[in-house]
Amino acid sequence: MKACVLKSPAPIETNPLAYMDVPLPNPGRGEMLARVRYCGVCRTDLHVIEAELPPRRSPVIPGHQVVGVVEKLGAGSQKCQIGERVGIAWLHNTDGTCEYCHAGAENLCDNPTFTGYSVDGGYAEYIVAPEDFVYTIPSQFPDEQAAPLLCAGIIGFRCLRLSGIKPGGKLGLYGFGAAAHVGIQVARHWDVDVYASTRDARHQKLALELGAKWAGGTFAEPPTKLDAAIVFAPAGEIVPAALAALRKGGVLVLGGIHMSPIPSFPYDLIYQERVIRSVANNTRQDGQDFLRVAAEIPLRTHVQLFPLKEANRALNALKNDAIPGAAVLEIEIE
Ligand SMILES: [Zn+2]
Ligand SMILES: [Zn+2]
Repeated sequence: MKACVLKSPAPIETNPLAYMDVPLPNPGRGEMLARVRYCGVCRTDLHVIEAELPPRRSPVIPGHQVVGVVEKLGAGSQKCQIGERVGIAWLHNTDGTCEYCHAGAENLCDNPTFTGYSVDGGYAEYIVAPEDFVYTIPSQFPDEQAAPLLCAGIIGFRCLRLSGIKPGGKLGLYGFGAAAHVGIQVARHWDVDVYASTRDARHQKLALELGAKWAGGTFAEPPTKLDAAIVFAPAGEIVPAALAALRKGGVLVLGGIHMSPIPSFPYDLIYQERVIRSVANNTRQDGQDFLRVAAEIPLRTHVQLFPLKEANRALNALKNDAIPGAAVLEIEIE
């Protein structure tokens, strides 16, 4: 099969993904093989490619927002049906036995595997995954629209949940890429007022189109104090600015898997019971709950399609803030 393979981590400007032939994977016990139709491009892919996350597998095929069709079942697999549409996300597997798994916090599992990082992902014509970890995608979403729901959407949803935001509340979003453009739609559905802080003018425009009350530069002060804020941009210097925008008791959620160092800041910024917390991965329950809400709204994703062989170009565009919404790879079998 064809795939975009990362042989060794390197800056995306050097176009490190090689479009090449690799062996077709075989589904093992409890797994299924899917023919990939679309795979969303996520900032985490950039972190993997540029080794901001320590390499777990090399070479590796990135990609963890996969929409595909089940083509083959491994031994003992019985949940998936051949021909069924499935979604495959970041959390590839967990041990199911550690204290976190037992406590319903499988997102914090001690021995997880991650799609497109510790196992091969969806920048390919085919992918294998445990059938217990694939999602059913609500029927109203076309394949390409569904892809960004699987990480940007689910993680944005978990961030919203952990922010504790309530109907009528005021929420700040820092960075307005794929996750924020989905998260704002959920927040508006919950009757939350959204204030978007982002450096790119196109992203500010998209935020206003999607119902933000205000959009401004990353370090511009929002016109009101916020009940909660979510930082999606991987830039630690945003943290003090976002804290300064919170009301007393406000919650700041850091939504990225990687962030540059957070500069020191005066205690006053966090005093008065302000809270900072990170979000790590998601549970399958988060994913199922999000997809149900997404279908109810119904949520719309803005996608820009690239052919699989142009994954490097899509990732360069993402790094340069040139994608309003989400980049998605289209995979056509040659
Ligand atoms: Zn575990
Ligand atoms: Zn992701």
